[in-house]
Amino acid sequence: SDANQDAVASPSPSVSVFGSERRWADTTSYNTKKKLQAWFQLANGDWELGKIISTSGNESVITSEGKVLTVKSESLVPANPDILDGVEDLMQLSYLNEPSVLYDLQYRYNQDMIYTKAGPVLVAINPFKKVPLYGNDFIEAYRNKSTENPHVYAIADTAIREMIRDEVNQSIIISGESGAGKTETAKIAMQYLAALGGGSGIEYEILKTNPILEAFGNAKTLRNDNSSRFGKLIEINFSETGKISGARIQTSFGNISLKNASFMLLLICGCGAVLLEKSRVVQCMKGERSYHIFYQLCAGAPSKLRDKLHLKSGNDYKYLKQSDCCSIDGVDDALNFHIVTEALDIVHVSREDQESVFAMLAAVLWLGNVSFTVIDNENHVEPLADECLVTVAELIGCKVEELKLALSTRKMRVGHDTIIQKLTLSQATDTRDALAKSIYACLFEWLVEQINKSLAVGKRRTGRSISILDIYGFESFERNSFEQFCINYANERLQQHFNRHLFKLEQEEYIQDGIDWTKVDFEDNQDCLNLYEKKPLGLLSLLDEESTFPNGTDLTFANKLKQHLQSNSCFRGERGKAFTVSHYAGEVTYDTTAFLEKNRDLLHMDSIQLLSSCSCHLPQIFASNMLAQSEKPVVGPLHKSGRGDSQKLSVATKFKGQLFQLMKRLESTTPHFVRCIKPNNNQSPRSYNQGLVLQQLRCCGVLEVVRISRSGFPTRMTHQKFARRYGFLLLENTISQDPLGVSVAILHQFGILPEMYQVGYTKLFFRTGQIGMLEDTRNRTL
Ligand code: ADP
Ligand code: MG
Repeated sequence: SDANQDAVASPSPSVSVFGSERRWADTTSYNTKKKLQAWFQLANGDWELGKIISTSGNESVITSEGKVLTVKSESLVPANPDILDGVEDLMQLSYLNEPSVLYDLQYRYNQDMIYTKAGPVLVAINPFKKVPLYGNDFIEAYRNKSTENPHVYAIADTAIREMIRDEVNQSIIISGESGAGKTETAKIAMQYLAALGGGSGIEYEILKTNPILEAFGNAKTLRNDNSSRFGKLIEINFSETGKISGARIQTSFGNISLKNASFMLLLICGCGAVLLEKSRVVQCMKGERSYHIFYQLCAGAPSKLRDKLHLKSGNDYKYLKQSDCCSIDGVDDALNFHIVTEALDIVHVSREDQESVFAMLAAVLWLGNVSFTVIDNENHVEPLADECLVTVAELIGCKVEELKLALSTRKMRVGHDTIIQKLTLSQATDTRDALAKSIYACLFEWLVEQINKSLAVGKRRTGRSISILDIYGFESFERNSFEQFCINYANERLQQHFNRHLFKLEQEEYIQDGIDWTKVDFEDNQDCLNLYEKKPLGLLSLLDEESTFPNGTDLTFANKLKQHLQSNSCFRGERGKAFTVSHYAGEVTYDTTAFLEKNRDLLHMDSIQLLSSCSCHLPQIFASNMLAQSEKPVVGPLHKSGRGDSQKLSVATKFKGQLFQLMKRLESTTPHFVRCIKPNNNQSPRSYNQGLVLQQLRCCGVLEVVRISRSGFPTRMTHQKFARRYGFLLLENTISQDPLGVSVAILHQFGILPEMYQVGYTKLFFRTGQIGMLEDTRNRTL
C-alpha cells in the first residue's frame, strides 16, 4: 500500500529507519571514569586499543598488549564496547570517532566482510584477492532479501526497487582512488542487474563488453595493474512488460521487465580525446604500460595475422619498449587476446572489421618506430624510407610518398598562397605522435560505437534506466600534468554532487521546514569549482585564452594564473611553471609543461587529409571522426588572427561540456553512492594501512555522512500522512481536526520524548527508531 511507503519516506531513499535506538554520542570528550577502553595513538599515527588503569591529573595509565604506558588523558579517544565489534553500519557505533570507524572497517575486512554501510553510503574495501561473496547463490539471497549484509548487490537491488516504486531513473556512482576497486565494483553491480535481466541473452553480451573496453581502455600504472584510463557511464534500460510478448514476467518488479534490458554505454570521454588518456599511446612512465591491447596483439596474434600486419614482438616497438615493462605478473597477454577476439565476436564486430582494428593498432606501433634524418643545414628532417615507414603506409593504405610528406611538412596559408613549411626533428616527432594518438582515439571511439549498436536492442530506450558511473578517481602524483588537472576537476564536480545530495538537501529540508537543527559543518568545494570555472578569470578560461595566443607558452600561462588567481583561497602560485590547487581531497601541484599543447590538441590538416584520403580498412572511422577532430582549435602560425571564426573548442572546454552533460544526467536520477577504499598501496591482500584508509575516508566524506545522518532526523512524514496513518489510534477524540493537532496528540499519547522528534511547518521529523513503536501498535490494532 502507499501508506506503507509513506512510513519510511525520507529525502534520500537509501536512508532507512534504523531499528535500534542508541544514544547519539559523537563526542570526543571522554569520561575516563566511566569507560575502561580507549584508543591511543602510536608514534606512527596508528591507533591502538588500551585499557585504562588509572587517571591522575591530566595523565592516564593504560595497558595494551601487556605493555603499561602513561599517556595524556586528553589524547585518549573513547572505544566502543566489544559487543559493537564489526557492526555492519557505522551509524550503529556508540562512539563515532575516527579510530572506531577504522577499527570497525578493519575488523570486518579481516573476515572478508569488505562491505560496510556508512548510513546511506556503501563503503567497499578492496580485498586484492578472491572473496567468497559473489555468484548466483548470493545474487539469489539479495534478490529474495534473505540477507541484510551490506553488498553491492544490495545497492543494485535497492536501485531496481526504487526505480519501480518511484518511477525515477537511478544511478550508482562509484568513486575512489585509482586501484580502489571501482571498475570491479561496477562489474559486480552489472552482474547483479544482468542476472535479474537474464533470459534474453543480452546480459551475456553486456558482460562481454568489459574485456573489450579493458583491453583498449585500461593499462598498467604504478598504482593499478589494470587501471582504467577513461571514464564510463553504463546505462541499463529497462523496458516495460506491456511490450514484451511471451516473456516470463518478474512479478516482483511490478510492471517493469528486466528481461529485455538494453544497455547503453555512454563514454564520457569526449571525442575519444579528452577522457581517454591518449598520450599514453606514445609515452608512459617507467614501469607502466600502454594500453593492454597492444601487448595482447603482439603476444597473441595467430601467425597468419602476424604476417599480414608484419607484427614483431612487443619489445621491438619503441612505444611499448620505452617504459621497460612489457609484461605484468600473472597476466597472460596472449590468452587475453583470444578472450578479446571472442568478445568482439559476441558484440558482433565482424572478423573483417576486427582485422582492420588490428591493422590500425599495428600501424600505430610501426609509426612509433619511424625515424627521421636531417636533410638540410636548417635542421629540417624527413622520415627514413625504411621498413617502418613502408609498413605504416601499407597498413593505413596510402602511398609512402604521401605519408612522408605528411610527417615532414606542414602546409601554411599566407594570404591567398599556400606555402609548404619543412619541419624540424621535434616538430616532425610531434606530428608523428599526434597521428598515432588520434588513430588510436578514433579506434576507441569506433569500438564504443559498435558496442553500443550491438547492445541497443531495437534502440528501445523508453523505459526506466539505471546508470553505473565508473570514473577515474582523484589523482595526486609526484608530477601532475594536464590529465590530472582534468581528472581532478571532474572529481570536484562529483564531490559536489555527493555533498549536495547528502548534506545540502538534507539541511535545506530542515531549514525550510523551520526545524531547529544545529548545522553540521561539512566541506563545501564551491570555491575550488569557482577557481576552475569562473569566467573570464578561472583556470579553464585562462588556459583557453593562452592556448589561442600564438606566442603563449606554458610559462606565460603559469604567470597569468599567478597574476589573476592569487586571491582565490584554493589557488597558490609556485615557482617557475607550477601552481597548486587545494582540492577537497588534498593539495595537488600541477606542472604546466605541455598544458597548452594538450589543450589545443592539434592534428594538422595535413595528417587529417592524409587519413581521410587513404584507403584504410575502416574508412568510416576516419571519415566521421577525423573530421570531428579537425574542429579542434586551429591555432598557431596558420591562423594569425588567433580567434578567427575557425576557432573551435579546446580540449578543456569540451571536457567541461561533457562533464556538465554527465552531471545533468545524474541530477535527474536518484543516486546511490559506493565509496571504494584501497587498504594498501601494494595491491596486496590482508594488509590494512590505517593512515591510508583514514585519509581516503576523510576525503570522500564518509565520516561526515555518518555524523550527519545520525545527528539528524532521518525519518520524516507530512502532518497529513502522519495523522491519516496513526490518527485512529487516538484514545479520545481530539477537538482538533487539523492534521497538526492530531499529530501532536498522537505524539503525546505515545509519550514520544521531545528530543526524539521535531515538528516542522509541513512535516514531522523523527530520530532513528521512533516510528517503529507506532508501527507495531498500528499493526497490532489493524
Ligand atoms: P579502480 O577501477 O578503482 O582503479 P579496479 O577495480 O581496477 O580499481 O581494482 C584494482 C584491482 O583490485 C583489481 O584488478 C582486482 O585485482 C582487485 N579488486 C578490486 N575489487 C575487488 C573485489 N571485489 N574482489 C577481488 N579483487 C578486487
Ligand atoms: Mg578502473
